[in-house]
Amino acid sequence: MEIVIGKTAGFCIGVQKAVENCSKLAKEQKNIYCLGEIVHNQEVIKDLEKQGVKFIDDLENAEGTVVIRAHGAPKDVYKTAEQKGITLQDFTCPNVLKIHNIAEKYTNEGFYIFLCGNSRHPENLGTLSHCGQYVSVIENTDEDVFKALESFEKSGLKKLLLISQTTYSLSKFYIVEEIVKNETAQDVELVIKNTICKATELRQMETEVMSKEMEYMIIIGGKNSSNTHKLYTIAQQYCPNSTCVETYQELDIQDIRKYEKIGIMAGASTPQKSIEDVASIIRAGRVN
Ligand code: SF4
Repeated sequence: MEIVIGKTAGFCIGVQKAVENCSKLAKEQKNIYCLGEIVHNQEVIKDLEKQGVKFIDDLENAEGTVVIRAHGAPKDVYKTAEQKGITLQDFTCPNVLKIHNIAEKYTNEGFYIFLCGNSRHPENLGTLSHCGQYVSVIENTDEDVFKALESFEKSGLKKLLLISQTTYSLSKFYIVEEIVKNETAQDVELVIKNTICKATELRQMETEVMSKEMEYMIIIGGKNSSNTHKLYTIAQQYCPNSTCVETYQELDIQDIRKYEKIGIMAGASTPQKSIEDVASIIRAGRVN
């Protein structure tokens, strides 16, 4: 039996820095709060909670120091923190900050913005706070794009910017790009910026290559991790025997061991330990 672990599986640099810095702060000071889950992974959250980090959904009951995770935060969080005398430790990933800057710059220049991604995802809530009233979020490639184009036309604006959540599906972005290019009038100034981060792009590409070669694919990541979900979608497309789990406890080890070539890939918020646990339990053929 061959077990292949993806080279890009696990923490990306943005997540790694945020988790390491948060843990370091917890060792140095008491009263460390983190606004939202630092990563969409319960193992990591539990570990930081043991170190004293308190996870909160808003700044209402916070005091002392509040960590901004790699996804970033909406603009009003910074204002509220200042008013309440809260110190922010901002670990927003530079790739996310870049999108905030692009959104703000083009909004100020009178562009309508199409943002690919999930409208409720914390990263996009931050990005949306840098856009004005002229913005549409495109989650799905079909209906959403045409709705967005309709809103753009109604706005009367003649400038359009297409950007994306850092973890959006690359193949979906290309489809959206194609539709937008074909459907916008000649007199529209169209700017397209693929803001999917490199780490996401490489991970999605490696998942596709692996899924074509493997008999069984295991994707490890948090239940509400959007980038993990996308990897699972890619894996299913090329390897029908694919599963997505948060920890090894969810795996049917005996069933998996029927396959000769097993691939393991993991989302950007999956710690190395979860990946190693899955690999060693499959090798051993049992839990413990
Ligand atoms: S997935 Fe990309 S944008 Fe998000 S934290 Fe990681 S490196 Fe940064």
